[in-house]
Amino acid sequence: MEERNLNPLQPTQALYSVSVVLPTPAHSRLPEVLSYYHSASLPLGTLVRVPLGTRELLGVVWMPAPGLKTPEMARLKPITTVLDLPPLSKAWLDLIRFAASYYQRFAGELAMAALPPQLRDLDEAQFARLLKKRAKKKSEKTTEWTITPLGLSPEQEQVLKQLQSADPRPKLLFGATGSGKTEVYLRRIEQVLAADDTAQALVMVPEINLTPQMEARFQARIEARFGAGTVVLMHSGMTPAQRTASWLAAHLGQARLVLGTRLAVLASMPHLRLIVVDEEHDPSYKSQDGARYSARDLAVYRASSEGAEGSVQVILGSATPAIETWHNAHPVGNKPSRYQRLDMPSRIHAAVMPTVRLVDLRLQQKSELMAGGLAPALMEAITQRAGRGEQSLLFLNRRGYAPVLHCGSCEWKSACPNCSANQVFHKKDRRLRCHHCSLTTAVPRQCPLCGNLDIGMQGRGTEQLEELLVQQLGTQFRVLRLDADSTKTKGSLEAQIASVHAGEIDVLVGTQMVTKGHDFRRITLVAAVNPDSALFAADFRAPERLFSLLMQAAGRAGRDASISNAAEMWLQTQHPQHSLYKALAAHDYPAFAASQLAEREGAAMPPFSYQALLRAEGRTQQLAQAFLDSAAALVQADPAFEPWRDPTAKNHVTLYPAVPMPMQRIANIERAQMLVEAPSRMALQRMLTAWQPYL
Ligand code: ADP
Ligand code: ZN
Ligand code: ZN
Repeated sequence: MEERNLNPLQPTQALYSVSVVLPTPAHSRLPEVLSYYHSASLPLGTLVRVPLGTRELLGVVWMPAPGLKTPEMARLKPITTVLDLPPLSKAWLDLIRFAASYYQRFAGELAMAALPPQLRDLDEAQFARLLKKRAKKKSEKTTEWTITPLGLSPEQEQVLKQLQSADPRPKLLFGATGSGKTEVYLRRIEQVLAADDTAQALVMVPEINLTPQMEARFQARIEARFGAGTVVLMHSGMTPAQRTASWLAAHLGQARLVLGTRLAVLASMPHLRLIVVDEEHDPSYKSQDGARYSARDLAVYRASSEGAEGSVQVILGSATPAIETWHNAHPVGNKPSRYQRLDMPSRIHAAVMPTVRLVDLRLQQKSELMAGGLAPALMEAITQRAGRGEQSLLFLNRRGYAPVLHCGSCEWKSACPNCSANQVFHKKDRRLRCHHCSLTTAVPRQCPLCGNLDIGMQGRGTEQLEELLVQQLGTQFRVLRLDADSTKTKGSLEAQIASVHAGEIDVLVGTQMVTKGHDFRRITLVAAVNPDSALFAADFRAPERLFSLLMQAAGRAGRDASISNAAEMWLQTQHPQHSLYKALAAHDYPAFAASQLAEREGAAMPPFSYQALLRAEGRTQQLAQAFLDSAAALVQADPAFEPWRDPTAKNHVTLYPAVPMPMQRIANIERAQMLVEAPSRMALQRMLTAWQPYL
């Protein structure tokens, strides 16, 4: 179906109007859906190219439209090209529709964010060539099994049985770190794909680059059984050509398994039967750029809305579920829980969880604490382990050498001129660098304000910790630092992780990057060097994030009982009595979650209320706040706001005054936010929709 430059309006010809969504943002002046005409009626979900102003854009046929008579048609422009692809499924269009209204976006904006960028750039000939190449690639099935699957543990066995039951609820797989969740996912995927020759599965992971062995494991297992090319990746680190190839394979049904990051939740998969969200608590599932959405929430929605009830299963897996997820997996009153909880409390091969040791920094003399900020006892433990051929992992959420330089005789600090943050001292290249706007300057020889030659450092970063360890351990042992600075060049992250697996490293130092998901076998000691700062953060989710970070970090230790059954997690803290650390020491996520839920219920916080944050940016803080405040005043003056004003009504919505964002200024842009709070999701959504026109 190709039609170019339709001769405008031959009176005898039947013409059809077509409603299309385009990548126009909600705040543009254009309507969400635009009309064009074409010589045939086009099915919903058809991909087309259309003119808009002087440009040509990719669009999706969005709404059914009747054939029109010529006079109305005179105002419309013709569709330029109809892409030679099966239309996007109705379920996919519904997903986009839902996500767009939920996150207050235009459907076209979200749809285009979910499609590979190349689709809009390739010309017809290029596109045809691409499709031809793809058709040739039809998977050849290998009959030979190259992988012998592991025998299952009793807990894995039990969970797989529950996954096969008819219960249509989303599943929370609450499995300890090292309990073998990945094996459960693999088994379940194999079952689902084997039951139906066209079935597809989607597996989401937080950050693919961090766990290359995960990718290899899925590929080896699934392709050995279902054929070469049946596993494709989807993440933002891929080239445009790779993204197009994966997307087409999924859309055309050739890919049976899509393994990807949050953006994969919007992949077109016409025969989707299973969604797995691994490490479902991970903050990276919330996208911060462009179209904001929570991939975990969308995955749950997608599974429930696609096809008949229960025909698409969704599994959320974690050792430290998001508090909201945990809440959903528990009955409220006598109503059954929304999610079904499946437990795997034990580690594989009887490996035990590490013993948690709290180092009370208050008892530590300042002078005793070593230069990089380590307690001597911890340093000694690391040295001993290295001597026995065991690995240690230290993490500190600050890269660079020192977070700030300061002058001892005046007030000068290495503040970034563009941001409300300090420039960090990087000793290796002797530079001050802002981690928010990347501004890099030379280290001043003397205080820029008073000329004092004695400039001091405050705090410690991973570079300094690495330096201390190298000094203390000598040349006999190898220290590796893993953070955003050490992994800038392509492939270096993979190479460094491989060297840890290969046992070439004795001590691994890094930011939270090192705590996630890795199945390092020889690590027997993990230490959090300075975790306290998150304890008293303003963000109510900070404790939850800290707990899961520490629990995940602990999860890297003692995964192999044959190497050591005396693994340890060390925590250096000023607050050893804090309940968060107590729950951590007991490896008791349920106790921690219960206390968080009680606190939030008392303060009417999510999940007991629903919140949205409205953000504005401006040249000055005043302008940004004024924008939000006046938008609030406008909607509050609207008679439609009446039902939401009454504080006794169940629809009552509270608009708080605009305030500066916690990171108030980045790259000279002032940022402000306004909190909107409602007792139900529905009330919040309706209110936001009513507000949209004013914004
Ligand atoms: P999790 O994702 O729950 O932290 P993994 O899936 O990484 O745990 O499994 C931990 C380790 O146990 C991996 O090395 C994995 O290969 C191994 N493993 C998992 N299931 C089994 C099993 N049934 N038998 C033997 N080893 C297993
Ligand atoms: Zn000074
Ligand atoms: Zn900056």
